[in-house]
Amino acid sequence: FNVPTPINEPILSYQPGSAERETLKKAIEAARATQVDVPMFIGGEEVRTEKKHPMSPPHDHQHILGYYHEGDAGHVQQAIDAALAAKPEWEELTWEHRASIFLKAADLIAGPYRAKINAATMLGQSKNAFQAEIDSACEIVDFLRFNVSYMTEIYKQQPQSAPGVWNRLEQRPLEGFVFALTPFNFTAIAGNLPTSAAMMGNTIVWKASNTQIYSANVLMEVFKEAGVPDGVINLVHVDGPTAGEVIFNHPEFAGIHFTGSTGVFQHIWKTIGENIHKYKSYPRIVGETGGKDFILAHESADIDALVVGLVRGAFEFQGQKCSACSRAYIPHTIWEEVKEKLTATLKTIKMGPTEDFSNFVNAVIDEKSFDKIAKYIDGAKENAMVELVAGGNYDKSKGYFVEPTVFLSHDPQSTTMVEEIFGPVLTIYVYDANDFDMALEIVDQTSPYALTGAIFSQDRYAASKATKALKNAAGNFYINDKCTGAVVGQQPFGGGRASGTNDKAGSMINLLRWVSPRTIKETF
Ligand code: GLU
Repeated sequence: FNVPTPINEPILSYQPGSAERETLKKAIEAARATQVDVPMFIGGEEVRTEKKHPMSPPHDHQHILGYYHEGDAGHVQQAIDAALAAKPEWEELTWEHRASIFLKAADLIAGPYRAKINAATMLGQSKNAFQAEIDSACEIVDFLRFNVSYMTEIYKQQPQSAPGVWNRLEQRPLEGFVFALTPFNFTAIAGNLPTSAAMMGNTIVWKASNTQIYSANVLMEVFKEAGVPDGVINLVHVDGPTAGEVIFNHPEFAGIHFTGSTGVFQHIWKTIGENIHKYKSYPRIVGETGGKDFILAHESADIDALVVGLVRGAFEFQGQKCSACSRAYIPHTIWEEVKEKLTATLKTIKMGPTEDFSNFVNAVIDEKSFDKIAKYIDGAKENAMVELVAGGNYDKSKGYFVEPTVFLSHDPQSTTMVEEIFGPVLTIYVYDANDFDMALEIVDQTSPYALTGAIFSQDRYAASKATKALKNAAGNFYINDKCTGAVVGQQPFGGGRASGTNDKAGSMINLLRWVSPRTIKETF
């Protein structure tokens, strides 16, 4: 069980004039100058159809980066058949060889593919260079390397034996195929959901979000070059209901690895429930869903650190992280200073296309998302209990741009305080500093979600009290740090309540969901 000890992939800085910046700029230019033709991948074959869809940068929606080929129910069936056909050989391949394939994929991304995949994430999903780097370079590489080491930890764990008896635990892959349904907001998550299950000996049908297909295609290129055998990971581009209809009616459906909205996940769970009698085994249902993540400040908070936490937590990648801070609770004693520093910082932030590296904020993912966010902003502007503190403008003429927006709500239950927006909108409630207990109760009780949260406090007793009182309000809890940016191997990620099954992406807990152990007792 000697595998290379994983270390987090160092984050490159992309300073002006650095070699990595020049390489990345060239990759962006090359990507903009070509139009890719993106097929589906079924059983190792590239599959093209008559139905082609354009892919555009969200910050420049008239530019076409290429087209992807959309499939139908027949393609989903073919992908399942290919996954089932590839399964016997794949699960027989010794774990060292499965590990090697994914370690090679990590090395390819960290090295020769780094600029290409970051450029794809910047153009296709409108991430700035830093946000792309921590996602499509570092996080996916970390997922692959750390998961390989967790895999070996799992295989190592064996039960006690007794005189004349040898007990063994065999970590079998699930019987059937696994469905990976992945989101647009992290190329790393899109890569992790199929590979973590595949690593444990499963074969996969993968449906990427339509708005992430552009970078998913680069991931497939990497997987192929790394030696993932044909049929082990099959990528189909179909609409959700078409995929669901075939997959959730299939007797060999063994599990779903999902990141996406709470509504879709609940619908999938119900569908699986209705079809439960059709399956060979009870399917594994693993999902990370929505969030309404909070930052709570105590009056002892370091205000500069708090403001950085609010700005980065709420507005990096336009707030399109399940972990993004979208509600904050500030005591009245420090509110004026926080407000002043927050608005001053927001004035220094630039918004625009990703190709200009000085832009901190880029566009939101698509028109549907833009319209939804704009509606929330308009609704809050009309609410008499809510004041606009900063931003509030939006414009979709060239790209889907929404200004970082801050509201002050006098009602802790106003719409933008409690509903997930998935955009650059932060709503703040100012509480009576003499009633910290009330603030804790509001944080805990006003949202159905429980993904991430943070307390800023220099008072150790207040920090401790918040940590205890908010035990079930977040699966990832931060003390004096923003509520985003979990690092694989350091902060296993996932939440409870309406935020998911909390099977901690990038951890042994997650990988255990993709095996079904067999206990073997042999007597001598
Ligand atoms: N793991 C990411 C973070 O900690 C968020 C993932 C998500 O948005 O789904 O910021």
